Amino acid sequence: MKIQFLGTGAAEGIPSFGCTCQRCQVARKEGGPNARQRASLLIEAAGHRILLDTPPEISALLNRAEVFDLSAVFLSHEHFDHIGGLVEFEYWNRVLPIFAGYDVLSKLRLTPRLEDQALLSGFHSHTRLCFGDLTVMPFKVVHHVPCYGFVFEEAGTRVLHFSDSGPELSNLHYHMLEKAAMAIFHTPTFEPYRSHISIRDVISLVQDCSLQRVVITHVNHNNLLHEELVERIAPQGITVAYDGLTLEV
Ligand SMILES: [Zn+2]
Ligand SMILES: [Zn+2]
Ligand SMILES: [Zn+2]
Repeated sequence: MKIQFLGTGAAEGIPSFGCTCQRCQVARKEGGPNARQRASLLIEAAGHRILLDTPPEISALLNRAEVFDLSAVFLSHEHFDHIGGLVEFEYWNRVLPIFAGYDVLSKLRLTPRLEDQALLSGFHSHTRLCFGDLTVMPFKVVHHVPCYGFVFEEAGTRVLHFSDSGPELSNLHYHMLEKAAMAIFHTPTFEPYRSHISIRDVISLVQDCSLQRVVITHVNHNNLLHEELVERIAPQGITVAYDGLTLEV
């Protein structure tokens, strides 16, 4: 299974417009891994390509990654940084299946053309959706609006994506983590921040559970610069995603 991080920034992205903080200035001047578009992910397995979330810059992200076909789009929750680019898909040139939780679907604002073109489907937590040998299973996470994480599984290899999850993990989450080849967390900051799990929480998780591979994304401009982050948490066995990073499990 191939996992491509199209964008790895938190809600405002980095540089954040209107912000002159040191990290945004570095991102403007130097670009590279310090510049982060809003978070979106591409999963490739079993001959299918699944896009997870549609941030406002999604058309540029898909063009940059040279992605010209998608099996489906999954949406985690209603926040603008995750669905702000959904309406761009009215310009996608073929029918596209779009999946979201029933409690997320009702929050989506579609254009008439997208309504004609998209195959919108609701899901419940723990429904398995199959794309050949790739299964996608949504599960609920704690956030300040209804929000879903996803299990992607192919031939016994499991990747868990916690979307904008808070730090409150259930026994079921821990159980799913046990067999995961990779777990991906959205950590805007080092310290707790508005119902998102923090890097500090993820470090504790890695120490308490024997997780095989942990990746963080959805990084805020108040966080450390990329190299500083890598230096700080790579020794704990945590990978810091950057825009364009592709990993295989
Ligand atoms: Zn977010
Ligand atoms: Zn800033
Ligand atoms: Zn959110």
